[in-house]
Amino acid sequence: MSFKSLGLSDALLRAISKKGYTEPSTIQAKAIPLVLEGKDVLASAQTGTGKTAGFTLPILQLLSEHPPQRRRPIRTLILTPTRELAAQIYANVQEYSMFLDIRSTVIFGGVNARPQISTLRNGVDILVATPGRLLDLQSQGALSLAKVEILVLDEADRMLDMGFLRDIKRVLALVPKKRQNLLFSATFSKEIKTLAQTILNNPVSVKATPENTTAEKVIQKAYRVDKPRKSDLLIKLISEGDWSQVLVFTRTKHGANRLSKKLISNNISSAAIHGNKTQNARTKALDGFKKGTVRILVATDIAARGLDIPLLPHVVNYELPNIPEDYVHRIGRTGRAGASGEAISLVSAEEYDYVRGIEKLLGHKLESEEIEGFEADPNYTPPEPEKRGQRPSRKPKQQSKGNSGNSQRNKNSNSNTDSSAKKKKPNSRRRRY
Ligand code: AMP
Repeated sequence: MSFKSLGLSDALLRAISKKGYTEPSTIQAKAIPLVLEGKDVLASAQTGTGKTAGFTLPILQLLSEHPPQRRRPIRTLILTPTRELAAQIYANVQEYSMFLDIRSTVIFGGVNARPQISTLRNGVDILVATPGRLLDLQSQGALSLAKVEILVLDEADRMLDMGFLRDIKRVLALVPKKRQNLLFSATFSKEIKTLAQTILNNPVSVKATPENTTAEKVIQKAYRVDKPRKSDLLIKLISEGDWSQVLVFTRTKHGANRLSKKLISNNISSAAIHGNKTQNARTKALDGFKKGTVRILVATDIAARGLDIPLLPHVVNYELPNIPEDYVHRIGRTGRAGASGEAISLVSAEEYDYVRGIEKLLGHKLESEEIEGFEADPNYTPPEPEKRGQRPSRKPKQQSKGNSGNSQRNKNSNSNTDSSAKKKKPNSRRRRY
């Protein structure tokens, strides 16, 4: 299948070939003709599937079929959950529209609004926005959504996770009733299905990958390890595996900072990216990571959402997410655009419940193993949920079969410089989750 056969114009085909794409991805092949026909589309697609071009290319074509109006009202609104994703989509829109008379811009919070307002004043055909700044500028009269013809909700599941439902409803009240709607989501919870029913009109569903499954080419590994030893194990994996570009997920902003500092103190270049960082710091960290000056990017789920870092070889779940869908999002950062990648989870006893949730969502087990020298203490009892936050208790278990040597081995293995330490074959011992 070629891009030409999808009915795209010469100007777009030239831009596509400049990008170096030779053939459409699955989601592009499915979505582009439907969008060109003016249909509402409900797409199941993760980042990494080429979904951005899947909606941007046909939108550009539709807009360029009608000459721009004199005052250039906003004709397409693309709503995204995060600043980084907004910036990425905007960059794509610019690249794909390089041979067209289409104006676009991006607005998001955390940066000065004045330049955004003055660009909007000059008129844009396509606006890429995060919900907060969009509503803020709309309420100041800096933009109008009254002429929107196409509305795109990208990463709709994440927008709901981030609490944007009310904002989305407010936006819906500002756009014309008659419009084309495209909704993209990696996962489909009940809430997303309800939102889709409210927004979409007789939609056609398309799927890049089956619902709630992880990218096929991602090799998923889980290592059981005690919580206090995770950072040492990570340092060992990075150093011995000679990993060059790793995205590491933590659950909290504080945890991201702490881990990044520890990596730096072990001479591993690292930067943390999360919601408490300024937009400039986030952009700098991401640029450094893309250029290779930052080897390890430690991120929280929200900050990492939608980051486009092609061919990322390793993703590490330093802590498992408590929302199973986030696991799917996270590992979607590796094995991108058809390349294979490795998603590694460091799992401590506190997180076994999260593993069960993830396995339920995936519909298969997450096999786990242990790394010699970093075995999880079989006598460790995670704190009761209501006691979380207190110091974990370590109660000896009555009947710990065949594990008598483990505690001793653990005591002796607190060095991550043990060059003899090798990966063990998946442990035949009964899995503990
Ligand atoms: P996305 O899922 O939109 O974030 O795209 C993921 C990555 O795939 C981006 O780096 C795109 O530039 C790239 N990409 C998109 N479409 C294609 C294509 N047809 N062929 C090769 N790469 C593509």
